[in-house]
Amino acid sequence: MSDYRIQGATGEWEVVVGLEVHAQISTQAKLFSGAATAFGAEPNTQVSLVDAAMPGMLPVPNMECIRQAVRTGIAINAQINKWSRFDRKNYFYADLPQGYQISQLYHPIVGEGAIEVQLDDKNPESTKTIGIERIHVEQDAGKLMHDQHPTMSYVDLNRSGVALMEIVSRPDMRSPAEAGAYLAKLRTILRYVGSCDGNMDQGSMRADVNVSVRRPGEPFGTRTETKNVNSVRFVMAVVEQEAKRQVALIEDGGKVVQETRLYDPDRNETRSMRSKEDAHDYRYFPDPDLLPIELDDAFLEECRASLPELPDAKRHRYETALGLSAYNAGVLTAEVETSRWFEALLAASAAKQGKPEGDVAKQAANWLTSELFGALNKLGKSLADSPVSPEAGGELLALVGKGTISGSAAKQVLEKMLETGDAPGVIVEREGLTQTSDTGAIEAAVDAVLAANADKVEQYKGGKEALFGFFVGQTMKAMQGKGNPQLVNEVLKAKLG
Ligand code: ADP
Ligand code: MG
Repeated sequence: MSDYRIQGATGEWEVVVGLEVHAQISTQAKLFSGAATAFGAEPNTQVSLVDAAMPGMLPVPNMECIRQAVRTGIAINAQINKWSRFDRKNYFYADLPQGYQISQLYHPIVGEGAIEVQLDDKNPESTKTIGIERIHVEQDAGKLMHDQHPTMSYVDLNRSGVALMEIVSRPDMRSPAEAGAYLAKLRTILRYVGSCDGNMDQGSMRADVNVSVRRPGEPFGTRTETKNVNSVRFVMAVVEQEAKRQVALIEDGGKVVQETRLYDPDRNETRSMRSKEDAHDYRYFPDPDLLPIELDDAFLEECRASLPELPDAKRHRYETALGLSAYNAGVLTAEVETSRWFEALLAASAAKQGKPEGDVAKQAANWLTSELFGALNKLGKSLADSPVSPEAGGELLALVGKGTISGSAAKQVLEKMLETGDAPGVIVEREGLTQTSDTGAIEAAVDAVLAANADKVEQYKGGKEALFGFFVGQTMKAMQGKGNPQLVNEVLKAKLG
């Protein structure tokens, strides 16, 4: 692991980072009302009396939100608190009709946990454990729009009351790369669990980035908090810019003040939003409208049993049981959709070849990560809109595995599959790509090649063994690429003695 250091005028500095991530819980309804949560709806069309904070309204907890928070907690190996409670966080703002946010300060539903991040995807040893302090559940606020009218601001309450998980890390990260890796890994886990869609560009996941600097080994410095950063790249940029700003400030004789800042991606800089002096006094107290949440063992067990195989376990299984390289295992498990696609491909390929998955997994992984990803990339497409299905891919791999077509013919077939959407078997027939395993034909071709290159045969026999590849190439060329490469090799070896 490389130590990230800021080189100041007076020496080296270390950066310390902790992230507070707001993740919107994927549910049909809001945390305390039945209103819908779909993204992109017309303003104020998904607002119940509860979300608009009409007098006399009473919140009712949506247990699906609680369940998703618990499932997430289990997925990060956290302690689940069987007794938790909602508190009111009081403040006034035009996007918060209640005048308070219902949150969990004193008794969050999820306690301490941790996730493991990988800092170099080619080196499985380069891992670091990042502690998580807590996950609590709270309501989102509405959205103010200042650009709709020359003199007035509008408010859209669709988001008001939507359930969020706030996932608070320990100040365990020490570089922009670690902060980025943590956020990316957290998003991967949330997507596997299905508790948040992780779409940062739609605001369903955003990070408050806490940054401080210190001399290596010294106590923590004063931190600033940059709010609502909405991409992994921006989080990394905030850590870098904010650390450099703090170092320059301190070395200039100044002091870092604990404050809230905003990131401006266009100028790649953070700027002050409010200082601790005008920090709110939230006057937290238990929400009298809500009973504490009490969970029993059966509920926790159901949450646990409902979890899919998680990314770390899956990556480990791909390496050990399927024999994939650390790199491929990492690539194929980074997104839950990719692993699903791969597993469908593998199942289809194994079934069509009548072989155990372990025997054909490397072939499937290599083909997917190099051939198909490469081809889709050229077309500007992703796996989600791939014209080739996992089943069709499996059929193609089986044609290669059974020796019906050569590896180079498979590349041609894939191109045609992407172009036409036709099944590989149909394309192989139509284009006459079936590989010849007819030893008579191969022997005839080899004889012709050796006769035409008598000089090279002499050189080969005289010890220039590198010429073997030349003979293979010439024979394949003579057979228009259709000779079974294994047989071509065997026949050549026999004839060259
Ligand atoms: P608050 O409740 O005021 O936001 P917390 O102690 O809960 O304060 O910390 C919030 C976040 O700040 C956490 O993610 C934590 O890891 C991070 N943090 C705390 N101290 C530091 C520090 N000195 N430098 C960087 N991050 C820090
Ligand atoms: Mg905070």
